[in-house]
Amino acid sequence: MTLLTRVLEAKKTFSFEVFPPKTPEGHARLLETIGKLCALKPDFISCTYGAGGGNRDRTFEIVEHIQTVYGIPSMAHLTCVSHSRAEIAAILEEFERRKIRNILALRGDPPQEASGVSREPGDFRYSSDLVAFIRARFQDRVSIGVAGFPETHVLSKDADSDARFLKEKIRAGADFVITQLFFDNRHYFDYVERLRKIGVHAPVIPGILPITDYAALKRFCERCGASVSREVHDLFGPLADDPAGTLEAGTAFAIKQCRELLKGGAPGIHFYALNKTHPVDDILKALRNSSF
Ligand code: FAD
Repeated sequence: MTLLTRVLEAKKTFSFEVFPPKTPEGHARLLETIGKLCALKPDFISCTYGAGGGNRDRTFEIVEHIQTVYGIPSMAHLTCVSHSRAEIAAILEEFERRKIRNILALRGDPPQEASGVSREPGDFRYSSDLVAFIRARFQDRVSIGVAGFPETHVLSKDADSDARFLKEKIRAGADFVITQLFFDNRHYFDYVERLRKIGVHAPVIPGILPITDYAALKRFCERCGASVSREVHDLFGPLADDPAGTLEAGTAFAIKQCRELLKGGAPGIHFYALNKTHPVDDILKALRNSSF
């Protein structure tokens, strides 16, 4: 299966993120959606992994499904926060078996109920430890992505130390970065500049969330530490009770945001598709009709 590193070298990429649903009915619906997303011919699709436990095997099933049924490169997210070294080694065996060759290596957030659990010596503390472990195991037979935070990770002291930790992830063997969502492109361009200044030259793919629900957006951003810009409040606040108006404005906002990012040098766009075909289908169509 295609290594994303090669795809990223060749062109600007358009990709989607999906997540494993909690129920069998949700899973069946996702498989249908995946068929529709694959018909849009994305460069890759990634599937999240629940650091909190639950339906983790589903991530690997979904990734395998995308690449074997549709021939579209896919990427498994993998978090190390609540796994021992032996468990991660077993998961990597499974990746080998399922021919999963693209991995987004993450620390994850500890599940609430496990916050008091002590870590075994030798287990992974940061995502850079996981990156190094995966790279040592697979060498150049896999592509490894890592998470980046244009507005700085919530636990980081400041933007410069956050950038240095990102550099650690690249030094440990990561090939590219996918960012947390953001709505003000200045955050992305400043972040990339900060990274380039300290010698990080890996592709930094912006992660974009098309706005479809203003209230849900505010809740989500509060949890993940992304800010909601004044422009977003002003545009979407008055539409809070108008789902159709929000969808239309969210589509237009995302198209404008992505065009500016691509024109400014972004190597592609990773869409947080939220297991839906719409509006990413319209956004993608508009972007493909633009020239950059
Ligand atoms: P790390 O890189 O380990 O960083 C965690 C914190 O430690 C940061 O503050 C960092 O600056 C700091 N740090 C890093 N290295 C060091 C060091 N050497 N010394 C001191 N401090 C250090 N979560 C999931 O559970 N499942 C998913 O599928 C998932 N997918 C994601 C996809 C993307 C694109 C993004 C942006 C996030 C995703 N997350 C996911 C959320 C992510 O797991 C959390 O944001 C988590 O808190 C940080 O993960 P990380 O891999 O960036 O951690």
